Amino acid sequence: MDDVSESAASSHSAGKEPIRAAVIGAGMAGILSAIKLNERGIDVVVFEKGDRVGGTWRENTYPGLACDVAAHWYTYSFARNPEWDSLMAPGPKIREYFEGVARDRGVLPRIRFGQEVVRLDYEGPGWRLATATGHEDRFDVVIVATGVLHHPNVPHFDGVETFNGAVFHSARWDHSVALDGKRIGVVGTGSTAAQLVTALVPRASRFSLFQRTPQWVMHRPNPAYTEAEKAAFRADPATLDSLVQELRTRTVEGYATAVIDQDSPQLAAIEHLCQENLEKVRNPELRRKLTPDYRAACKRLVMSDGFYEAIQQPNAELVTSRIDRIEPEGVRTADGALHELDVLVLSTGFQVDRFIRPTKVIGRGGRDLDDAWADGPEAYISVSVPDFPNLFLVNGPGSPFGNFSAIETSEFQAGYVMQLIDGLIRGDYREVSVTHEALRRFEDERQEAGRNTVWVTGCDSWYLDKKGVPTSWTFSYDRFVQEMAAPRMQDFETQ
Ligand code: NAP
Repeated sequence: MDDVSESAASSHSAGKEPIRAAVIGAGMAGILSAIKLNERGIDVVVFEKGDRVGGTWRENTYPGLACDVAAHWYTYSFARNPEWDSLMAPGPKIREYFEGVARDRGVLPRIRFGQEVVRLDYEGPGWRLATATGHEDRFDVVIVATGVLHHPNVPHFDGVETFNGAVFHSARWDHSVALDGKRIGVVGTGSTAAQLVTALVPRASRFSLFQRTPQWVMHRPNPAYTEAEKAAFRADPATLDSLVQELRTRTVEGYATAVIDQDSPQLAAIEHLCQENLEKVRNPELRRKLTPDYRAACKRLVMSDGFYEAIQQPNAELVTSRIDRIEPEGVRTADGALHELDVLVLSTGFQVDRFIRPTKVIGRGGRDLDDAWADGPEAYISVSVPDFPNLFLVNGPGSPFGNFSAIETSEFQAGYVMQLIDGLIRGDYREVSVTHEALRRFEDERQEAGRNTVWVTGCDSWYLDKKGVPTSWTFSYDRFVQEMAAPRMQDFETQ
């Protein structure tokens, strides 16, 4: 038992009220937070509106679903998994992994399924929490682990209600709808759509991809691990650790450096690889239509080993004329063409500025989070918001989002949050939140650094807010790791 667990336990044994924590969400970050709180002997309740764990890996069940980040890096550092079958893992396997960790680490009994948190009121020093079913409880600490890519962005197309076929968002897959031999349309060209195209073209009688903006696509093969390799990973955790370090270093030194420096050789190398990949498209007219007019990695880089092959199949068409309306038979585009369909999938992304909302969050002095975030969500190094003490975000605004391991970044953030909670356990303070000044200073610097990122080089994406300012971590990944090492307590106010 470490010092902190001992002090949590001793304050408990001394008859003081033990610290109670609520975690909102039982996805990757919520399971992680519950484990870390558990390790400290803190009484934790996880509120999950769904009926099983997994977050984005529960919500997304579309054909072709996979994680394009290397599987061994996309695992918790404390629960490595020698059994991954290939470099990148399919979605159902990842969901199973999270279910296994939640079960093995004792998280499942702490989860209240079917309990959507609708309101949080700060009643210093602690939070009153209310769920949609009328359940109320009080907690010293709240960890928000509600994810980013959670609320589907569902555009309205005129006439959609007249469509004779099935229409749904990619994250709300209707598994009752038959796909084989059907005429399938997909709207959107992001990472989700690229996986859908690769999986569905071989199954459809006719496939239409409705593209508003072309994407750069990097070739990423997915080699299988041999039984001998898996046996080696099982036998020696050090072998697995060095593989993880190798995968990590490659991405951190390559992609993570490229996106924050428009003039970097790493970005030039990515551009070259994407251009080279595009040459796979043999038909010059199709290649022209698939060629973006902005720099590679400006939007999230699509990784695929099958997109260009699939879209060149004789049963596939790339539609670049704007969608005018939906008719009973299919999609009518602005050029007057009718694309007849049985199934239309809206692979149109997510509302990424929601975070914990629509939960109503009322902080110290009656401060409403909706007002605090009226100009866009902001959090000090992505974890703390002024006037919302003892409320911490994992994967909050300004997190490093991109083509790297969200599990690793969440672990860093959770480690940082736990250090702030350790102060509560030790009795150093009863409430802690970042100061307004520290948030402003951090945000000004973060936004300034954003001016040199690739995200502002002439494309629109979910990495930009309504004013065109990057919403992600705009500094180096090394700086992220350093910042997360220990809180600078002078940036926090405590009582
Ligand atoms: P996305 O990247 O936001 O792409 C949405 C697509 O829908 C874009 O092509 C967009 O076009 C199009 N679109 C939106 N509204 C439209 C409208 N009204 N009419 C026509 N087209 C419209 O969404 P996503 O593909 O679901 O990916 C979201 C994020 O999820 C990714 O960036 C990634 O972080 C994550 N993801 C990860 C993986 C993985 O393997 N790790 C896989 C899937 C998703 P415009 O470009 O013109 O806006």
